[in-house]
Formats: sequence, C-alpha cells, structure tokens
Amino acid sequence: MQQIVENRSKCFGCEACSYSCPAGAVSMVSDKEGFYYPAIEQEKCIDCGMCQSVCPSLNPDVFDAEASFYAVRVKDQVLLQKSTSGGAFSLIAGEILNKGGLICGAVYDEDHTVRHILADDITPMRKSKYVQSSLGDVFGKIKEAIDTGRTVLFTGTPCQCHAVKKLIGDSGNLWLASIICRGVQSPVYWQEYCRFLEARHNGNLTYYCAREKIKTDDAHTVLYTVGQETYKTDYMKDPFCRIYSKELSLRPSCYSCPYTTAVKDFDFTIGDYWGVEKEYPDLADGKGTSLVICGSERAEELLRRCSGDADIRSADPDNSMQPALVSPAKEGFLRKFLMKDFASKGDNGDSDIATILKKYGV
Ligand SMILES: Cc1cc2nc3c(=O)[nH]c(=O)nc-3n(C[C@H](O)[C@H](O)[C@H](O)COP(=O)(O)OP(=O)(O)OC[C@H]3O[C@@H](n4cnc5c(N)ncnc54)[C@H](O)[C@@H]3O)c2cc1C
Repeated sequence: MQQIVENRSKCFGCEACSYSCPAGAVSMVSDKEGFYYPAIEQEKCIDCGMCQSVCPSLNPDVFDAEASFYAVRVKDQVLLQKSTSGGAFSLIAGEILNKGGLICGAVYDEDHTVRHILADDITPMRKSKYVQSSLGDVFGKIKEAIDTGRTVLFTGTPCQCHAVKKLIGDSGNLWLASIICRGVQSPVYWQEYCRFLEARHNGNLTYYCAREKIKTDDAHTVLYTVGQETYKTDYMKDPFCRIYSKELSLRPSCYSCPYTTAVKDFDFTIGDYWGVEKEYPDLADGKGTSLVICGSERAEELLRRCSGDADIRSADPDNSMQPALVSPAKEGFLRKFLMKDFASKGDNGDSDIATILKKYGV
C-alpha cells in the first residue's frame, strides 16, 4: 500500500488498484489538475499488497516480443471515413465479433466523461478521444466474460492494456490492442471544456469529435454540435486541440511514459501511419492509413484473415517511427503555468477555461 502512495508521480490512473482491493479501501480521487489518483482509507486497508501487485507502474512490462509492421487501410469507404486512421481498430474488432467475442473500448458518456465499455457494438468506440478514459467496473465485466468462455478484445492506451493484462492474467481469450499514445488529458479539464462550449453556444453539447474526417485531411477537423448548430474548425486552429498537441496538458506520468517504444508485449499496437508518404505515396491521400504493429503470432494470423477487407502491406519500421514510439512527451515549462491557472480557477475569477484557451491555445 505504501508503494502505491509513494508512486504518485508515476501513477497512470488506470484504476487497477482500486478495482482489485478486496477491502474496498482504495478509491480514485481527482487532484487540482483534474487527474484521478488512488486514495487509501487506512482504517479499511488490510495490507494484503494486492494494489501493489496489479499496478502496471510498479510492475514494468518486459518488451521482448517479436514485432512486424504493416500499413493498413480498410476497403469499405464508409468505415474508413468513420475511423481516425485507416480503420485498423474496426478491422480487428470485426474479426473478434465474428467469432462471438466482445470488444472493450473508450466512449464519450452523456455526462461528458470518457469511459470504457464492454459491448458488441463498436460504433461509439471509434474515433480518438484525447482524454483519460475511466476503466471503472470494466475489469470485472471482462473477467466475467472471459470466465464464461467468451473472447474479449481490449483496446486502450498502453498503460491500460498493461493494467488489464496484470488483472486478468494470461488467458487465451483476452486480446490486447494498444493505441499509440502521446498522452491523455484530465477528465475534469475536459468536462469544464464541454461546459465552456455549452455556455458559449447556449445549448447542450450532443456531439464532439476531435478527429473528424470530412475532407481528405487525415481526420484533422474538429466537429461538435451544441443545440441545433454544428461547428467545425481545423484541428490545429482549435485552441483545445492545440494545447493538447503542444503537450501542455498531459497527465504527469505521460512525461515519463515507459511505453514509448515500438515493440510492446500486446497483440497489436495501432496508430496513424506517419511515414506513409515515404513508403506508399499512393496511400498518402489524406484518407487515413493505420500503422499496425503485430506483437504475437496469433495477431499476424488474424491480420492475414482480414486481407479480403483491407489493403494490408508490410511496412518498414524505419519509415514508421514517430515521437510516441521513441520517447515520452517533453514537459514544457508552460505546463506548470497552465495547470496553476486551471487549479486556481474560481479563486479570484480571472482564470477559467476561456482564459486558458486564449493564453495557451495560440
Ligand atoms: C489519447 C490518444 C493519443 C493518441 N496519440 C497518438 C499518437 O501520438 N500517434 C499515433 O499514431 N496515434 C495516436 N493515437 C491513436 C490514433 O489517433 C487512432 O486512435 C488509432 O490509429 C486508431 O485509429 P483507427 O482508425 O484504427 O480506429 P478508430 O475507429 O478511430 O478507433 C479508436 C480506438 O481508440 C480507442 N480510444 C479512443 N479514445 C481513447 C482513450 N481516450 N483512451 C483509450 N482508448 C481510446 C477506442 O477504444 C478505439 O479502439 C492516439 C489516440 C488517443 C486516444
């Protein structure tokens, strides 16, 4: 228990400790930046060490898998348009669903949170949400499904995949697909941003997508609906997305992320194929191409089975490299000021989301 408390700066906020505690002594509480951390009720703690044993941060993974790299694009143009990159997630999930499995992925909730659900409908899971997703009770649901013989594909950030692996253990029925991840933003910051949009446009926010693909721009359009109106802007002109892309608002642990390596011990790692123009110029048409890194033999096999539904080509690892596969995001000095402004918001009335967007989103 002590290690969990001391490990705060490296805590991924995956909630594995909280879920696994048999005494119900660990809950997740948000700090001033709006990120969630475990809080331990000493009087309930039975010192069993369970929280420490499942913590992915305290138990680093060993990345010793063989990996092979692929450029992937689904053939179905509607599916491609609905996906952030080349639709690799839908392709892989489709195979698992066809065999009677279930998918666990991140969705926007009505209360403006992002959380993981286990379901057989992947529609709301599509599209990148640049906010920390809550795993909550989904660990239990995955375990229940696996215990009854169902196959489950978990998709999420690498630290979340590692947490699920630690909690569920080695099971042939569990598949892990990690997204390439530059970092996540705080759920409370996101909720306040949603409230800001609602106040600004005077209505309820009913749709938000940071990576809409409405033209051939590799899904770099922000689209949201408040009330009856839909608003759109270029990703890099949107202050909220600019702040994210400048890496000013990430969870502290993202700045020392141990998963910024191409080879991870998961079945799949999927992301945007950044270097596609160097290797396959015909795929660099702005419609999106996925980079898929297979980390297991069964992942290779699954991908082979998909060849009728997707354009799948082997990729040169040297052309596929990008920052999130090489080193963690750098914590610029401005992050401290942004978070200070966010935390002091309301104290003197001069720092709110509008101020933050204006000050840091240029
Ligand atoms: C926070 C974040 C940072 C990313 N950073 C990079 C990057 O630096 N480089 C890069 O190449 N790609 C990055 N990606 C991944 C990329 O944007 C696409 O999500 C990925 O290529 C899958 O696209 P797709 O077309 O296959 O699937 P889509 O159909 O768009 O599926 C999206 C998938 O992402 C998962 N997902 C969405 N939001 C979250 C979230 N908040 N937490 C956990 N899982 C989530 C969904 O469960 C689903 O599996 C990032 C994604 C996220 C969410």
